[in-house]
Amino acid sequence: MKDDCIFCRIKDKKIPASIVYEDESVIAFKDIKPKAPVHIVIIPKRHIERVSELESDDSELISRMMLAAVKIADDNGLAGPGYRFVINCNKDAGQEVFHLHMHILGGRKMGWPPG
Ligand code: 5GP
Ligand code: ZN
Repeated sequence: MKDDCIFCRIKDKKIPASIVYEDESVIAFKDIKPKAPVHIVIIPKRHIERVSELESDDSELISRMMLAAVKIADDNGLAGPGYRFVINCNKDAGQEVFHLHMHILGGRKMGWPPG
């Protein structure tokens, strides 16, 4: 837990969020400014600032996060039409919140390449 981290505060239920999934390792909630009809953010409960800080010991954690994201996409009706997972790392990618998270986006046609 990092006191000034908004996602740690959501994880600890200190600030409200629309939580759609939770287990012992990860938690997922609706993005406050959705960029698609379905826009959910999934985070590890442990504070890790960015994807580049993952270590080999985190392989089980990241695997759990990915499998939970696939389940969430499925539960939200995205499996058939399709969806996109996005992880932004640092400035050029536009990372705004420095607690590792993956965006689950769907419910509309996505452009490619991403902007
Ligand atoms: P990033 O640009 O860091 O990859 O994405 C951060 C995401 O977190 C953004 O899509 C932003 O809308 C979302 N976000 C930021 N603050 C909050 C918040 O307080 N609650 C929720 N639910 N989402 C947030
Ligand atoms: Zn955090």
